Parts: sequence; C-alpha cells; structure tokens
Amino acid sequence: MSAIASAPGVASSPRVLRTIADIRRAVAAARRAGRRVGFVPTMGALHEGHLSLMRRARAGCGFVVASIFVNPSQFNDAADLEQYPRDEARDVTLAGSVGVDVVFAPSAREMYPPGFATFVTVTGISEPWEGAHRGPVHFRGVATVVAKLFNIVAPDVAYFGQKDAQQALVVRRMVRDLDLPVEIEVCPTIREADGLAMSSRNVRLGPEDRARALALKSGLDAAADAIGRGERSPAAVARVASDAMRARGVEPEYVAVVDAETLSAPAVLRGETLIAVAAPVGPVRLIDNILLQVPA
Ligand code: AMP
Repeated sequence: MSAIASAPGVASSPRVLRTIADIRRAVAAARRAGRRVGFVPTMGALHEGHLSLMRRARAGCGFVVASIFVNPSQFNDAADLEQYPRDEARDVTLAGSVGVDVVFAPSAREMYPPGFATFVTVTGISEPWEGAHRGPVHFRGVATVVAKLFNIVAPDVAYFGQKDAQQALVVRRMVRDLDLPVEIEVCPTIREADGLAMSSRNVRLGPEDRARALALKSGLDAAADAIGRGERSPAAVARVASDAMRARGVEPEYVAVVDAETLSAPAVLRGETLIAVAAPVGPVRLIDNILLQVPA
C-alpha cells in the first residue's frame, strides 16, 4: 500500500503505524515523491490546540505525520501518567479530519526497549519553572523523546505550541546544540472562548475548578494591563499577576516575568517579554503564558 495515499489537503483516515521501521518506510516514500515532511508530536487526547498545529503542518507540507505517545520518561508522577487521558480511536479520527497522512503511535517498548540507557539533557533553561516543579526527569524525558522522534520521523519541519513555552525553548536549544536538521515552528496558544488555554488535562476539571482555572489567564491579563499602564519592574508585574490569581482562589506555583530571549528577569522590562504561570487547580496542574512586546 502506498504511504502517500491521500493528496495534500484532502482529509481522510490516516494510517496508524506502530513500529519505527514502518514509519521510516512511509516517510522515505513521501520524501522520494518530493514531499516536504511536517511533524506534530503529541501525547494524544487531542483538542483544537493540537489540531491547529496539524493544520499548520498540512498548509506547509506535502506529507504530515502526527505522533501519539504518552511518554513515560517525562512524567515525574506515576499517578499523573496513569490518569493521563487516552482515546486513540478518537484521536486518529480527529487527526484525519485535519489532513494528517500518518499517525505514529508506538508502544512504550518500541520507544524504550529493555536496556535503554541514553538521555538528552538540556542544561540551564530546563532547570527553573517547569523543571523545578516537575523535577529534572521532565525535560530530560521531553528532550530525549523529541530527539528520538526526530531521528525516527526525520521531518523537515516540526510544530510545537507556545502553550508549553519552556518546552519549545528546550526543543529549540536542543536542535541548535545537536545540529538536528529540522526546522522548529512554534504556533500560538489556542484558547477556549472564555480564555482558558486548551489542555488535555482540562477534561479532569469539575465545574468549580473549571471556573477557577480562569485564574491563570486573569493573572496574565492583569500583568499585561500593569505593563500597559507603564509598570516596568518584573517583580511588580509578577506581584500583580499573583494577586489576580489569588483573588480567583488559585495559588500560583510560579509567576515568571522574563526577557523572552535570555529567560532572565531584567532590572527593567523591555522588548519581547515572556510571562509564564503555573498553578494547581483541583486535581490538575495548569500552565499558561503570554508573550508581550514591551515598549521602552
Ligand atoms: P501534548 O500532547 O500536551 O504533549 O502537546 C502536544 C503539542 O501541542 C505541544 O507542542 C503543545 O505545546 C501543543 N499544545 C498543547 N496545547 C496547546 C494549545 N492550547 N494551543 C496550542 N498548542 C498546544
């Protein structure tokens, strides 16, 4: 059977491949046919955020691969791994609806065979915020699985969401430092109508927690407003965000207000600025962020 059964842009049921050998063959056939290969790595439980990346890949590439793999090596908490939502049949249908050609859905054993011993660590930028709260295994697991997936799929371009801002930075740095031949595109965060950033974990929020979850976006909005009113102190902006979150009954784990390039807090905010927050809300831990251009 041809690995490139569907014409670009035509939605149909994607093939689901489970072995490294099979996905390599499918991508090689597409490449021989002259197609640019786009890749969207996911952990499944797909929502509009994931689908936006797939649409972007569809628009930019002749052959689109999405992976669905709940990567055990990036979970610091066995219960979180256990409870991570999984519905492959639904995910494959959704991926097909936006024109994904092939879904790569390997087993944990295919990705981490017995004796697996090699990990990729991105020092420095992996360490604060998500790295500090989820432990050192988290970004080590992310970098390792993304490096493996890039070696397996060999895409021309891979798509990531700004929603996971630190993850996107870790991936970019790994690609640069290890000279991986792939272009990284980071795409905007997709939100629910009321502003909540879409996340696979949102399905675990009960009605009260779903309402409280808006605290993260409120904190970011309050920070942006403060900057709009002329506040240029990172600490003062972080305080405004924290206060807004607490006012909605959510205690932030961190509020980072940093230069988006250096990831350090300057004395005075200026230029591209990343404001990132994380907080537990009921049974889940949520993250969100915004990027702002701060005028001098
Ligand atoms: P995950 O399945 O959570 O590992 O996410 C897979 C990819 O989808 C990552 O690049 C995420 O940053 C991205 N993603 C998750 N949620 C969103 C969202 N709300 N908007 C845009 N991209 C997202």
